[in-house]
Amino acid sequence: MAWEATQRYGLQTAPGTLGLVQEFLNTVPAGAPPLPDLLADLASAQHWATQAVQDWSAVSGGPGVTVEIDVVGLVELRALRDDLRRMIAEGPADMRTAPAVVRTTAATLRMDTDGQVRMEPRGTGWRTMLSMLFAALLQAQLSETSHRLKICRNPYCRTAFYDRSRNNSGVWHDVKTCGNAANLRAYRARQKAQKA
Ligand SMILES: [Zn+2]
Repeated sequence: MAWEATQRYGLQTAPGTLGLVQEFLNTVPAGAPPLPDLLADLASAQHWATQAVQDWSAVSGGPGVTVEIDVVGLVELRALRDDLRRMIAEGPADMRTAPAVVRTTAATLRMDTDGQVRMEPRGTGWRTMLSMLFAALLQAQLSETSHRLKICRNPYCRTAFYDRSRNNSGVWHDVKTCGNAANLRAYRARQKAQKA
């Protein structure tokens, strides 16, 4: 089963390597009751990263690299996850007030005999994952699909979903569950306000 962090929430996966970014965002404990944080400790983070790299290889045709997560890498990945989730949920942050979101990484651009230019991750340890994530985001930004990756607005859900609606207007990962729950809460709040 590809993209296990995303699949465990029953979500449709984003196309191509953007699936890796969605997968990374969905390592958080989300839903009610929340599922485990896949970056909770080194063992679970390593298990997740190994799976994610395999899935990334399958969709990108890229090399099967090894990503080894150490304690520093775990802290860095959690911070990156928080920053990315915030940026996606709230829109781009002001870089002057949020210097923590500024990160750099390396990647290799390679032209193959078919004339296609491909981006390969660089770096060691968690930085390989950073390189893969940024390459995936860049490709999605160039193909204008990155803005379809969203965080569900339901505060009890907060999963990362790929919005396939025609006008990219979705705010819930599933209108039937999260959308209706939100409408019900708003309705009850209005009733309570009327009574008061
Ligand atoms: Zn939701």
